Amino acid sequence: MLTEKTAIVTGGAVGIGRAVTERFLEEGATVVIADIDEDTGTTVADELGCQFERCDVREYEQVETVVETTVDEFGGLDIVVNNAGIGSETSVEEMELEEWKQVIETNLDGVMHGTKAAMPHLMESNGCIINFGSIYGLVGGKGAASYSAAKGGVVNFTQQVAVDYADQGVRVNSICPGFVETPMTKDLLEDERFYNYLEQKTPMDRHGQPEEIAPMAAFLASDDASFITGANIPVDGGWTAF
Ligand code: NAD
Repeated sequence: MLTEKTAIVTGGAVGIGRAVTERFLEEGATVVIADIDEDTGTTVADELGCQFERCDVREYEQVETVVETTVDEFGGLDIVVNNAGIGSETSVEEMELEEWKQVIETNLDGVMHGTKAAMPHLMESNGCIINFGSIYGLVGGKGAASYSAAKGGVVNFTQQVAVDYADQGVRVNSICPGFVETPMTKDLLEDERFYNYLEQKTPMDRHGQPEEIAPMAAFLASDDASFITGANIPVDGGWTAF
């Protein structure tokens, strides 16, 4: 259970972040969704009964403001889920430099911003960070140069920060999902050629649902995971074991 815990979930308006938010609320946490999509974020927060703060994770000052607002309003911060991310399936020779920059700034800089802004408060609460890596942070993906670079960075950053803060009582882990049905992957999963490839690569022969990722976040955030830090945990139907 996450009773009396306060959490920030970046990118919590839809997809995996929304499922994590719902699961945390079910387990008794107070949750602040921090998302760039104000319309969806406000609607979802009203529906679920939590708070919404508009925030672009690429901008450090905006992330810091969400952290400080949360601490002021709820008296502390226990859990940060650095989940906000964008997809990219562009190979390196086709890549516009601007696309590379956007993916790295959102998927990697955003994780650093959430970590840096929250760390002083997490050191006070013996809190934890859950980052979102990907199978593409652990193994190469097809034509996903910037995405894999960012997620590989998240995986190594997770280990580094875990090591640096283990003796300060802050645990840092990442979840590395396989393909999960969300607004990010909807079109890809409807592409028959891609789905054949996915089935070949996934021992379980299928994609996952956000509700199959959220329990891992709830576990990592809970006291049951008190001896787990620096772990990058695949939740992928067997993709990285194959
Ligand atoms: P999604 O696109 O469905 O949702 C992402 C959310 O992040 C949206 O609410 C969006 O508004 C928000 N967001 C995007 N850019 C932002 C920014 N700059 N600042 C704040 N919020 C921003 O994505 P998803 O599929 O739910 O993925 C969630 C995380 O899981 C991402 O980090 C993604 O890379 C990772 N992941 C997803 C899959 C998958 O198959 N869906 C697989 C592996 C890893």
